[in-house]
Amino acid sequence: MNIAIYLRKSRSDPEDESMEETLSRHKKTLLKFAKTNSLTILKIYEEVVSGDGLFVRPEMVKLMSDIEQDKYDGVLCMDIDRLGRVDTKDRGIILDTFKSHNTKIITPRKIYNLNDELDEFSTEIQMLFARQELKKITQRLKQGVRRTLEDGYHVGEPPYGYRRIYVDKRPTLQIHEEEAEVVRKIFDMYVNQHIGSYLIAEHLNLMGYRTRANKPFSRNSIRFLLQNPTYIGKIVWNKRQHIKKKSPTDKHRSKLNPQAEWIVSDGVHQPIIDVDTFNKAQKIRTTRSHPPSFNGTIKNPFAGIIRCANCGQLMSRQTSKKTGPRLLCVNNNCNKSVTIDKVEAAVYEQLKTYLHQFNLQVQTETKPDTEPVKKDISVIKKQLVTLNKQKDSLHDLLEQGVYTIDTFIKRGEILTNNIEKVQKALKEKELQLDKTNKSVLAEKIIPTLTELVTNYDTMLPNEKNLLMKEIIEAIYYHREKISKQNDFEVRIVFKQWI
Ligand SMILES: [Zn+2]
Repeated sequence: MNIAIYLRKSRSDPEDESMEETLSRHKKTLLKFAKTNSLTILKIYEEVVSGDGLFVRPEMVKLMSDIEQDKYDGVLCMDIDRLGRVDTKDRGIILDTFKSHNTKIITPRKIYNLNDELDEFSTEIQMLFARQELKKITQRLKQGVRRTLEDGYHVGEPPYGYRRIYVDKRPTLQIHEEEAEVVRKIFDMYVNQHIGSYLIAEHLNLMGYRTRANKPFSRNSIRFLLQNPTYIGKIVWNKRQHIKKKSPTDKHRSKLNPQAEWIVSDGVHQPIIDVDTFNKAQKIRTTRSHPPSFNGTIKNPFAGIIRCANCGQLMSRQTSKKTGPRLLCVNNNCNKSVTIDKVEAAVYEQLKTYLHQFNLQVQTETKPDTEPVKKDISVIKKQLVTLNKQKDSLHDLLEQGVYTIDTFIKRGEILTNNIEKVQKALKEKELQLDKTNKSVLAEKIIPTLTELVTNYDTMLPNEKNLLMKEIIEAIYYHREKISKQNDFEVRIVFKQWI
């Protein structure tokens, strides 16, 4: 990672220390941090004026313009306040520049990635307030939200059937009659007419109803609606848990907490469903078997493997008294469902054919010699070690005062360039080895495939699942809208190395 260091004295530093002393102390700390974390320093910005505003800090202005040229992956500083406890406008400019050029703020405590929403929030807040103040504020905020909920008001997106209104300046829900009628219909079909959530969704879609997002109803949206206590006038929170993003391009995701962890209080809004009907629905829901509620044993040998060829989604297993367990696409009407045993038979036949093919392939193949490439790789790896050692010693030479900052950066640049070149060469060689190995790798799949094919009849679904997952990337399933029971296609995609 290529970084710059930004140094600046701030109010939190000891008063009796001179600016030079402070900066050199910080420089030492940050250089050490860079070394242990293998950060490549391209430049050091030392702010020697003590103004707070952006435009009285010449080094910050230079840093900003360098960030705009995408020179760095990150900027290392003592703590986030160093960038500026400044007026709102300057703070905005600085953060925006970091964000739009995907440049991280690195402090010895933490790396801030401004393209991660949560980090952005904490960074902004940290720059506005001292740490203790921040603690108090988030606590007060949480308490405020909690009190609003406990008092029966509604925070967040109103569920289907309701719209948001404000009473005494606090948010609550008002019944949206048209949607509420649909909610009553759903509960009635489920509780009184004993219709399952899949058919309810199909029925509603046929009648032309759509969700709030103007999408067709799905089995899942019906099931989710059926268990929402908001409809009997309750307020529920702690229902979902946010999942931290792993990369800035990840979508915001959350997962449902177990129902036991939900907190429920009496709402000030009007109910749409009576308690009796709601409780009956819960009873039906918990006694029926619903595939996504996972109890630890896999009943579906294709769990996590079989996908709908139309939309690419994983297909799920659903019990059916009439036909035995079926596989269906989670999107209604996307792909015709099928019984699992039929798919198993079709997949089994294909696996057998593949096994035969692979065996033939291996027998007729002459194995290429991989030794020379392997030798090259080990030589390159040794070079890399040497170069990295040289880079490490640069820091020591700087610390010992042998190198000036300028020499340190120049030498560092040359070494970094060399390292990059060598790494590239290594990658190429490894790719080459991978290619020559590829045909050999067919051998890797054969033992697992043999085990699967010979013992298939006697294996439990979870055992089949384990073996398939070892070698199969996905199985794509497609069936025409109008088709006979056995008229469907499955396409097996093996893991990359085939
Ligand atoms: Zn589909």
